[in-house]
Order: sequence, then C-alpha cells, then structure tokens
Amino acid sequence: MKSIIAIFLVIVHWASLAHADDRCPVCHEPVVDVTTQVDDRSKPSKNIAVWNRSMCGNKFFEAGSTICLNDGYAYEAKIKRWQLWIADRDSFKHSLDRRIYGFPLPDKNQHAVYTQEFVTLGSVTHGLVFRTVNDKAYLAKIRQYSKTQSVHLYIELDKEHGEAFITASITTKTEQAASLNGP
Ligand SMILES: [Zn+2]
Repeated sequence: MKSIIAIFLVIVHWASLAHADDRCPVCHEPVVDVTTQVDDRSKPSKNIAVWNRSMCGNKFFEAGSTICLNDGYAYEAKIKRWQLWIADRDSFKHSLDRRIYGFPLPDKNQHAVYTQEFVTLGSVTHGLVFRTVNDKAYLAKIRQYSKTQSVHLYIELDKEHGEAFITASITTKTEQAASLNGP
C-alpha cells in the first residue's frame, strides 16, 4: 500500500511540474505553443528571439517551445531557456537591470535590442545588442561605463565597414540572496 501511495505522489508531483511549465514564470498566465502563433508584422515583434523578421527566419523555437501572449516571454525547448528580446526597454514585465537599461547608446545605432534570458527567475541575464559606427570616443565611453557598472562588454570591430558590433550583458541572481536569508 505504501509503495502505491508513493507512486501516486510521484505522479501528482510530475503532473504539478508539467502544469508549472504551462504557465509564464513572470506573469503566471497560461502559455501557448509557439508554432500555433503567427507574427503580426503590422506591429513591433512580440519577441525578436522568436520572430526576428530577417531573411534567415527562425532557426529555433520549434515544436514544444511556448510563448506567453501577455508579455512575450518565450521558452525555447531545445536549450530549455526563457528568452525575451525586444527593442523597447520599458516593455519588460520582469524589470530590466538598471545598468543595461541605462547603458549609453550612440546617436547612430542600428536597431538596439534589449534581452532577458533565464532558466528560472533566480538567475536572469539582461543584455543589449546593437551595431554602430566605429567611433573611438564612444567605445572608450562604454568601456568605462561597463567597468564601473560591472557590465560584461564585448566589442567586435568590422574594420572593413567601419562598424562595431556591441554586446553588453549582466547576470543577476536572486536565489543567492534568498538562501542567505533562509532558515
Ligand atoms: Zn507572461
């Protein structure tokens, strides 16, 4: 009898885990299968990680991947991570880290995209990617900003076209703080 109860409890536990996966970790609304959704090109992309609108299309987010229609967070089944990439830094339901939010953008940038990626909200990577002209003064400014703000900065120079491809990111952990305050 005990073993039957144990098996029953395991099944209930599995069922609750499956149920948790069907909801957005940020707003807790039910999510839908990405492959059932169509990109509405008359509006800004709900999630550039899912619908990047380039010629390449979307290599990821295949069957089993889900998206929250309330705030755009999407779960990529292959890499088992939630991702939200959008141009509007104010549109993140889970607040964007202030150091990425306030990262100094150049006057001339091509389509800056803000990103959040996580397995759980206990450890969230906040990021920013964009292309700009290869301007020494600007690059020195963001190197200094990244150093003082502990932002991880990656600059790839395209000398042929006089451009720079910038990636800035920072990972924030809340589980560590929670466990420190735990019993
Ligand atoms: Zn949501």
